[in-house]
Amino acid sequence: MRYTSTRDQSLAVLSAEAIAKGISADGGLFVPEFTPQVSSDFIEELASLDYIGRAVRVLSLFLSDFSEEELAEYAKGAYGGGKFSHEKTVPLVKLGERTHVLELWRGPTCAFKDMALQILPYLLTGSVKKAGIGQEIVILVATSGDTGKAALEGFCDVAGTRILVFYPSEGVSPMQKLQMTTQKGENVGVCGIAGNFDDAQTGVKQIFTDEKIKAVFNENNFSFSSANSINWGRLVPQIVYYFSAYCDLLGEGKIQNGDKVNFVVPTGNFGNILAAYFAKHMGLPVNKLICASNANNVLTDFMKTGTYDRNRQFFATASPSMDILISSNLERLLFLMNGGNAAEIREWFASLAKTGSYAVNGGVLSLLQSEFAAGYCDDAATKETIKNTFEKNGYLLDTHTAVAVRVYEDYVKETGDKTVSVIASTASPYKFCADVLDAVKGGAVQAKDDFSMLKELEAFTGVAAPQQLKALKGQQPRFSQVCEKEDMQGVVLGMLGLI
Ligand SMILES: *Cc1c(COP(=O)(O)O)cnc(C)c1O
Repeated sequence: MRYTSTRDQSLAVLSAEAIAKGISADGGLFVPEFTPQVSSDFIEELASLDYIGRAVRVLSLFLSDFSEEELAEYAKGAYGGGKFSHEKTVPLVKLGERTHVLELWRGPTCAFKDMALQILPYLLTGSVKKAGIGQEIVILVATSGDTGKAALEGFCDVAGTRILVFYPSEGVSPMQKLQMTTQKGENVGVCGIAGNFDDAQTGVKQIFTDEKIKAVFNENNFSFSSANSINWGRLVPQIVYYFSAYCDLLGEGKIQNGDKVNFVVPTGNFGNILAAYFAKHMGLPVNKLICASNANNVLTDFMKTGTYDRNRQFFATASPSMDILISSNLERLLFLMNGGNAAEIREWFASLAKTGSYAVNGGVLSLLQSEFAAGYCDDAATKETIKNTFEKNGYLLDTHTAVAVRVYEDYVKETGDKTVSVIASTASPYKFCADVLDAVKGGAVQAKDDFSMLKELEAFTGVAAPQQLKALKGQQPRFSQVCEKEDMQGVVLGMLGLI
């Protein structure tokens, strides 16, 4: 299996090179040359395996330059050894008659990012070795809150790597900020920026492609990579859990092998839902992929009209990890849908960079609409959904998953679709205590510190908070730096001791 670039389809590299580099030198994203196909027998076999076994089988279809032994070692290191708080790694919990929640947040940082970022350090260090890169790898991360902590945790003290994280200093929850600023490890750095996630992501992408910085890095034996979902090594582990959820539905007799299911995904950078799209096109029986957004509803409009337009107000919402107006992974989807036409992708993304918008043609729009349903909801509807779901189903949603549940409910009302559905649950409610508590108590909450609210939420709901969040109480932040978005380059050089 080789990988090409969305902006240059003549490129063909092995997965190790794609993962080690993170992003293609032409500014495009790496995509597999073809989508491997599986049969219903393959799914039957997967159903008999545990999560680690399922991961190895799915990953090996895409990462053919890695041996099964290597992948098994990586998957064990990532998902075994009690790192996840549930024996099934990703438990599937029944919500309603036909609705299930896939809890992707049972890992060390309580967000679904752990699913990829626990295994990425293995994939990346393995890739660097295979690709013969002798330099120390500097992983630059732009985060809307959850990727930062998950990447810090995954790469903490991993030999041959440094990790530097930029987060919007006013755009993450207090718990998210404390998780990052208290990070331990000798190879880590964390800095806030006076801007939003899009600013952080744009700054990181600029550093990646800056020739002067590249030269300084070469002189000092450093090379960049990315732990954002622009890296294929982030995306491929996420395909596994869609197969796993299907297998668990089979195991519980909720469906027969071959029956279609819907996946509902709270979406920001479009990585998670793109993984579901890959699973579908490999042969997993999927009806609709339902793309749920918050008030930053650029994707909802895009799916309806075919015009992507980021020229709009940016909202800081109760689901901050989805406060994104430039969804990077959409570039991969469009490349898959326009028949691998890199020239057209270059045109669209040049237009996005220059004018903030682009419009796809009718063929791509009708493909989009046949595969996806899309919707959004605001903070008031998100909180109402948290309250209703807790009262009706006894299940406590976080603010992101609540967006997905609401959009799904609206979708069912509109379409009458009775297909069995799986809602991707992307974070523990305890990462967003203030809003979740406010929601379940119907607004009767006094402003308090996050740990008092955590206790109150536990007492009110009877749902236990994750130990690793409770343990943050009283910890002193190690990193307090905040920079202007224009100064990110200098911060990177400073953290590496290069100026
Ligand atoms: C990152 C994140 C999302 C969005 O996922 P994408 O892959 O960026 O679309 C949704 N919810 C939570 C809690 C997240 O951390």
